[in-house]
Amino acid sequence: MKISDTLSGKKTDFKPIGKVVTMYVCGVTPYDDSHLGHAMSAIIFDVVRRYLRFRGYQVKVVQNITDVDDKIINRANRLGVTAAEIAGKYAQSYKEEMEALNVSPVDINPKATEEIPTMLEVIKGLIAKGFAYAANGSVYYRVKNKTDYGKLSRRKFDTMMVGASVEPGEEKEDPLDFVLWKAAKPGEPSWESPWGKGRPGWHIECSAMSTKYLGEQIDIHGGGTDLVFPHHENEIAQTESYTGKVPFVKYWMHNGALQLGAEKMSKSLGNLVTIRDFLTKHTPDSFRIFVLGSYYRSPLTYTEEAVAAAQSGADRLVRVVNKEVAAGKKKALEPKPYYDRFIEAMDDDFNTPQAIAALFDLARDINRAEEEGMNAGKARETLKELGGILGLTFEGKAEATIDIEPLKKLASAINQKAKTAGVSAGAVADDIETIMASLISMRKELRKAKQFNLADEIRDGLSAIGIALEDTAQGTVWKRK
Ligand SMILES: [Zn+2]
Repeated sequence: MKISDTLSGKKTDFKPIGKVVTMYVCGVTPYDDSHLGHAMSAIIFDVVRRYLRFRGYQVKVVQNITDVDDKIINRANRLGVTAAEIAGKYAQSYKEEMEALNVSPVDINPKATEEIPTMLEVIKGLIAKGFAYAANGSVYYRVKNKTDYGKLSRRKFDTMMVGASVEPGEEKEDPLDFVLWKAAKPGEPSWESPWGKGRPGWHIECSAMSTKYLGEQIDIHGGGTDLVFPHHENEIAQTESYTGKVPFVKYWMHNGALQLGAEKMSKSLGNLVTIRDFLTKHTPDSFRIFVLGSYYRSPLTYTEEAVAAAQSGADRLVRVVNKEVAAGKKKALEPKPYYDRFIEAMDDDFNTPQAIAALFDLARDINRAEEEGMNAGKARETLKELGGILGLTFEGKAEATIDIEPLKKLASAINQKAKTAGVSAGAVADDIETIMASLISMRKELRKAKQFNLADEIRDGLSAIGIALEDTAQGTVWKRK
């Protein structure tokens, strides 16, 4: 197996440090509903651990919950509730959403507020070694003492100085220094410390928790690309200067951002789709197929069309997996070539686009084989097994709500009328995707030809079958109602 590492920039053979693969993934700051960007990262690292386990590794995964933070405190103050109430509520809904997305639970899920003593230990150790200093009730990390600081994000001290600043109230020796412990401000949650009351900085919690639960050096550290600087750079600085062991992490895995339009999906920009909203319209498998259809390190752009295509793909797999076919002693479809392709792809730095392609080819060939009277029972089992490694559930509503026969009937009727109206007719195929594509393009043609009644007849007819059409900036998409 090969894995790419952000620090070295190389793809190398995966050789874990010890018997158990240790993996740390940065978690959420629960202050609002989680969006699909969070879901994307969760799904990618879920697939990483599922695959490692499939490959025979024992894997221990830790993911933190940053349950004390400016965003949580600000929201709590606005709503007149405690920070703990906000964090508790959204941590719980995140957990439920992960379950709904079939993300397997991590082994240890520590909360920042429950690990204050661990963090204080690390901060004290850093001060003792000259890597940190207290000033005015706060503690800062002394960046220039870590001579290789900037190695993950490939930044030099002088270029980092340009963006660095000292905020009012901060007493840093150097603008590059970052906070490990923040002196308490009125109206904020705080804890006792050797430097007075205060609360931890964000970066220190990941160093403290990974060291405590996984050891001084770990195999895999995951997170979004946006965490490379400063968060992961600071984690490296803290952990390596505290333990004296280099490297802190053997394989840094960063997932690309999920974009909506030209920007990263984020709460601050307001361009987001919440997980909850997504799941009212689509199945969990469809989002997984959408995410895994792209290499994990690349940015991915969310569009209604891409999601509709992923949903059609998910529905197709559900139909193939759940089809009841009487087994006979007929010639069998041999799944091994597809299985091998899948493993080869996943072994190559989790090349999920290739792995997914192997699954879809297998599904297509199962259909073909059965049409030709072959036995595809073993192939169907393989499809289920490989899909399971990617976390697919093969649960879907497609079969239950969309019946192909009325859809074919509607398409034929519309075809007849379109011909009479002088608009060229579409295809009446045996699969939902093809018929829908044809009906959508015919509706567009009819509207161009000002045959609005007929165009509306398509929409109303589909509605009666349980399909909704939605006109978006990128074109018309369809959904199960
Ligand atoms: Zn972190």
